[in-house]
Amino acid sequence: MFIERKINTSTNAVELWACEWENSVGGAAKKVYVNKITEEQPLNSEAAASVTEAPAICWSYGRTLGNIAVYSQSLIGRFPQSTGEDAELPCEFVNAGKYRNGRDRWWCRTHQNHWGPKADQESLARFGDMRCANHTQRMHYVVSPKTIDLREHAEVGVWCSLPAALSTVEIKPRAPKIHVHVRPKAGGLKIVDRDFAAVSMLYNKELELFGSDEITRVNITPPAAFEFVCGLEARREMSCVNCSYCGYPHLDLGDFARTPHRKHFCGNCGRDSTWSSEPIVSTPLKLLHDQYAETLTYQVPDRRLNLDDYAGCSYTVWASTPAVLWTAARPQELGIHVHVHKANQRIVDDTFGEVVLNGAHLDRSSLIQAMIHRTIT
Ligand SMILES: [Zn+2]
Ligand SMILES: [Zn+2]
Ligand SMILES: [Zn+2]
Ligand SMILES: [Zn+2]
Repeated sequence: MFIERKINTSTNAVELWACEWENSVGGAAKKVYVNKITEEQPLNSEAAASVTEAPAICWSYGRTLGNIAVYSQSLIGRFPQSTGEDAELPCEFVNAGKYRNGRDRWWCRTHQNHWGPKADQESLARFGDMRCANHTQRMHYVVSPKTIDLREHAEVGVWCSLPAALSTVEIKPRAPKIHVHVRPKAGGLKIVDRDFAAVSMLYNKELELFGSDEITRVNITPPAAFEFVCGLEARREMSCVNCSYCGYPHLDLGDFARTPHRKHFCGNCGRDSTWSSEPIVSTPLKLLHDQYAETLTYQVPDRRLNLDDYAGCSYTVWASTPAVLWTAARPQELGIHVHVHKANQRIVDDTFGEVVLNGAHLDRSSLIQAMIHRTIT
């Protein structure tokens, strides 16, 4: 039994419901709303008015877990704008077994925290509401995110965009962004070529990538994309393990994304009974990446640039990073991307196999390290 909040669409009240997973042999688990416990009491009517159920993606930095393979795009919360860093989301509790003293242990999926210690019980008695210790933590979000149906386009490329490595102008540290290219025809014109805060990928569920067939989308969030690209660069052992208790595909973040391990703590059900056969870093992005990769070859472009030839111009340099998702049948370019501006005009915008600055060759891996170093996570 676990507790979930849902909005009653006729009264607009947020209700707490006791739910259960109904498991049929051989089938996917179904969520069943058993009985309504209570209505959530808003602090004031103004706050109540801004609680909405919206198609949204939320994420948070500094975590060791996340949940990006989802069965529903809708979230309940307060989203002040279409994108930002200040979403307020209600706790979503699932029962996570018992503490040693026999008390029920609960797990808040939203804020990823256990509930049940004495202080939480006292707070429930005083305020009549279950709230985890992280419930005031604001989250990054995007409402109505860009959704890409991978079956609809000939070529989709998704990268984790990072701050530049070198520039004649100041490089501001920033959070990662998700850069997307979409081509309806192979090698044709791009209909999408820009950065997004986060994107949602719809894939063919007949592929049965994940344990539950209710999962039809994978959200590509900045922390998940960042760790995945760092893992690809470092050639870290990555895979995706499903939780042995609830079946959800596991996402490691932070230190857990950098250190392969065997025992995995589930962000969806709060249990730690999942062991992978080998030490791995688990991410659903690995399955998506491998499934759609027609080719996983990289090509160093046969182009060379000498920045010393551009005296008086401004330039910015990035190492190209491996794509998070690449569905095209051609190899990816692996090199050094350079923009050169003369006055206000961009006179170079290309990826090179070799770039010379002050008489020396730039080294791709030190450029990557500089980019990672400037990334705020
Ligand atoms: Zn919470
Ligand atoms: Zn793990
Ligand atoms: Zn689980
Ligand atoms: Zn460019």
